[in-house]
Amino acid sequence: MADSKNTTVTVLGLGAMGQALATAFVKGDRPTTVWNRTPGKDADLVAAGATGAATVREAVLASEVIVAVLLDHASVHQTLDPVAAELTDRRLINLTTTSPEESRELAAWAAGHGIDYLDGGIMAVPPMIGQPGASILYSGSQQVFEDSREILELAAAADYFGADAGLASTYDFALLTNMYAMFGGFFQGAALLSKSGVSASDFAPRAVAWVTAMAQLIPAYAGVIDAGTYTTDVLQDLDFHKSAIDAIVRANRDAAVSPEFIAPIKNLLDRQIADGNGKAAFERTIEELR
Ligand code: NAP
Repeated sequence: MADSKNTTVTVLGLGAMGQALATAFVKGDRPTTVWNRTPGKDADLVAAGATGAATVREAVLASEVIVAVLLDHASVHQTLDPVAAELTDRRLINLTTTSPEESRELAAWAAGHGIDYLDGGIMAVPPMIGQPGASILYSGSQQVFEDSREILELAAAADYFGADAGLASTYDFALLTNMYAMFGGFFQGAALLSKSGVSASDFAPRAVAWVTAMAQLIPAYAGVIDAGTYTTDVLQDLDFHKSAIDAIVRANRDAAVSPEFIAPIKNLLDRQIADGNGKAAFERTIEELR
């Protein structure tokens, strides 16, 4: 049945993220039931209008939509296996961070129990939930997604990627890889500049402007990767990038800074050049990864 103001929702797990999600549902006037393994974490939510459940079974039986926001894959099974029968014919939406294979395993487990399963990857920190800018990526049951969309959008913008329950998690991890590499690059640059007496705060605005400008090149890189043709007539082939990266690594070593964030890129370039690909485009680096 499609979502409405009367749709009942249960949140399993009241860590920082579960609290934020449940708060968004309560603020959206949805009848909300909450449960947490360790008692005593539901006081603020109950004061705001949620119903506290004493057991997982009670929490599951209370609602049509069950949102699990636990620690990891193991904790999802520990919590849900004993109530599989009660979950049958309900909408299970798992927002716990799980790897793509773990998400697929949970979808298969759910299907085996007649449970409609949607998996989600949260692209936000708890204070962002219910605010513009928060986004949650979904894959798995399209029916659950469509039927629950209104309630899900109380928490964050909701995007659906397809029936493969592991796809949302794969997107999540791909984006986090991008994020960690970006922050790692900032740490490397800030460490190098600190040896010249420049603070990280002084470096930050320049780093933001530079990263923002460089991010505009991503679609062009993507086009080259998807075409799979790495010939280039511009100067910036792998040989060109190697000379730049080698100089950056030397600069870090000269300043007694460990080049650990930039070194893996040097390794990838060195390997391709040793294999005779120095005249290929920088984007060929993806072939060394896959
Ligand atoms: P958290 O504050 O550490 O809370 C973890 C929750 O999991 C608690 O409710 C905890 O219950 C419960 N839990 C742990 N092991 C359990 C088990 N074996 N059985 C039942 N419950 C168990 O974490 P969080 O920030 O809420 O994150 C929850 C999920 O959201 C994680 O998968 C996380 O990766 C994901 N996420 C978080 C963020 C973020 O910025 N926080 C962002 C994106 C995604 P107890 O109180 O009993 O320990």
